[in-house]
Amino acid sequence: MAFDAVPGGDPRGPWCPGCGRPVQTDEPSTRMHFAEDPDGRLGKSGLWHGECARPYWDKITPALERLRRLGF
Ligand SMILES: [Zn+2]
Repeated sequence: MAFDAVPGGDPRGPWCPGCGRPVQTDEPSTRMHFAEDPDGRLGKSGLWHGECARPYWDKITPALERLRRLGF
């Protein structure tokens, strides 16, 4: 099998920019949006595994989401 597709361009689904592996539909995932990579060309914005994205949540998660996680 060939795995030469670029991240985000694989017909089987999105690839996690964090670990470079496919994000399965049954895995926890989160869509990340980095200000420096608005269209995903740098391979940062896109669908990440939930665990891979966790270290970035505090950096990029909007304040509203942060409040929601605190129970507001
Ligand atoms: Zn990952």
